[in-house]
Amino acid sequence: MELIFIGYPGSGKGTQASYLAEKYGIPQISTGDILRKAVAEQTPLGIEAKKAIDTGELVPDNVVIGMIEERLKEKDAQAGFILDGFPRTIKQAQEFDRILYKIGRYIGAVLSLEVSKRRILKRLTSRRVCSDCNHVYNLIYDPPPDSGVCVSCKKAVTFFQRKDDSESTVKHRMDVYEELTRPLKEYYDGQGKLCEVDGSLNIDKVREKIIAITSPLGKRL
Ligand code: AMP
Repeated sequence: MELIFIGYPGSGKGTQASYLAEKYGIPQISTGDILRKAVAEQTPLGIEAKKAIDTGELVPDNVVIGMIEERLKEKDAQAGFILDGFPRTIKQAQEFDRILYKIGRYIGAVLSLEVSKRRILKRLTSRRVCSDCNHVYNLIYDPPPDSGVCVSCKKAVTFFQRKDDSESTVKHRMDVYEELTRPLKEYYDGQGKLCEVDGSLNIDKVREKIIAITSPLGKRL
């Protein structure tokens, strides 16, 4: 099963992609996570990408396309994958279609999580992340434990705010989404693959809707 998630940053792509990855036993591939790891490890890619990430700009298309092409060659991606945060521009989508054609793969569905700007701003500015395993919390509906022990990695950690989750950078990231990423909806609608899902519902409801869309795809495997 090959799936793509699109939607504003903070629309729930990561949460839902991670759930589906576990359910279907295929990897969640997040270009944002790959880039943040590269930044933390100060690799040449990380050094190049850091400024764009911190300011909410996009990393150049050729960089992320190369990253995805390499990642899809790995063994765990052969049975399928769930992309979270890629593609993000029309150029990335077109190049990705060429790569998929070359390797004989096919996107089953593009899930677009629909959430209002106002809600995104609230969600992202209250997001906190585990300093060890990057598990995501939210001060409003899923606060980090007072004990300081992460529920996911079980270590004593700090819970920090990503630099790009500050209010001004979130607003900028939404503008970047409007300009460069939203046109993907039309692109994939033209391919008959776009499925819009109301991402403002609670996590379980969104999950149910996504399973209803993706389960029939799994049966075709
Ligand atoms: P995310 O965690 O998906 O919101 O990504 C965090 C940041 O990584 C973005 O604001 C971009 O700077 C960069 N990034 C992630 N995915 C892409 C992509 N497909 N194309 C360009 N930049 C990306």
